Amino acid sequence: AKREGRAAYQFATASMNEAALERLQLEASLRLAIEREALRLEYQPLIELATGRMVGVEALCRWDDPERGAIPPGVFIPLAEDSGLIESLGRWVLLTATQQLQRWHEAGHGDLMLAVNLSARQFQRGVVLEQVEEALMVSGVNPARLELELTESVLLHDGEAVMNTLRQLKALGVALSIDDFGTGYSSFAYLRRFKFDKIKIDQSFVRDVIDDPEDAAIVRGIISLALSLGLHVLAEGVETESIAQRLRHLKCTYAQGYHFARPLRPEVLAERFLNPPPA
Ligand code: C2E
Ligand code: CA
Ligand code: CA
Ligand code: CA
Repeated sequence: AKREGRAAYQFATASMNEAALERLQLEASLRLAIEREALRLEYQPLIELATGRMVGVEALCRWDDPERGAIPPGVFIPLAEDSGLIESLGRWVLLTATQQLQRWHEAGHGDLMLAVNLSARQFQRGVVLEQVEEALMVSGVNPARLELELTESVLLHDGEAVMNTLRQLKALGVALSIDDFGTGYSSFAYLRRFKFDKIKIDQSFVRDVIDDPEDAAIVRGIISLALSLGLHVLAEGVETESIAQRLRHLKCTYAQGYHFARPLRPEVLAERFLNPPPA
């Protein structure tokens, strides 16, 4: 039995080493991908529910590794956060997305908004303000057209430093929204501590809004809270017309989801949403 235990232990060690090694290799590949600008962005339409109009886009990062294929952001973003690579990745995302927005503005779509995800690590190291200023300056985008999406993890690191950065970002004229609202422990507390512009209701509540009375109550509650605080509210993960219908009925202002459009490469988005063929 002792022998078996030892063999099992060695096996576990070997597979742990293998996992650690694989992680290191993945990290090295990600570092290269960032350096060589081998990442790309897709843009998902943000829809005004009352009119069905696209009012903006959310930039979402993509990584197609030549050997491993597409690696989902749910994998490489946490890796980038843990390794510190998120700083350079985040800078690249801000620069690339704002320059894309500027090109669309120059093509006559000046009212389009751009939402960019920021991660907690970008806040901790204090680089975020610099990066946003740089992107605005390089691209020439009007700050009022840029919206930064933060998750609760940013605000979790409480501290005056984070609050200060939020105030400074606000002073630049950009909009701030809370992403994945409702999934954290203290989403509501943040609404008191800082004047956000928009709440994005997490898709886990939206998915079952028709069939699950609890989820429906939560979604209804978040929408009415947002509206009474004078905030915009967007429902994420809208996959069907009946969900869109229900949200319209609940007076939700905006929505995003596969029902309207998936995240799209910029040229596809432009073709489908910005340059409709003449009727
Ligand atoms: P998120 O910010 O909550 O982004 C929304 C996610 O929901 C995206 O997943 C999007 O493709 C997906 N989605 C949109 N509509 C639907 C729908 O109707 N149904 C379903 N099931 N999913 C929908 P994605 O692109 O895989 O990104 C995952 C997460 O990775 C993002 O969640 C965000 O937290 C992070 N992420 C992506 N790009 C960036 C980035 O540039 N910077 C940072 N810091 N994080 C990023
Ligand atoms: Ca987001
Ligand atoms: Ca979200
Ligand atoms: Ca549920």
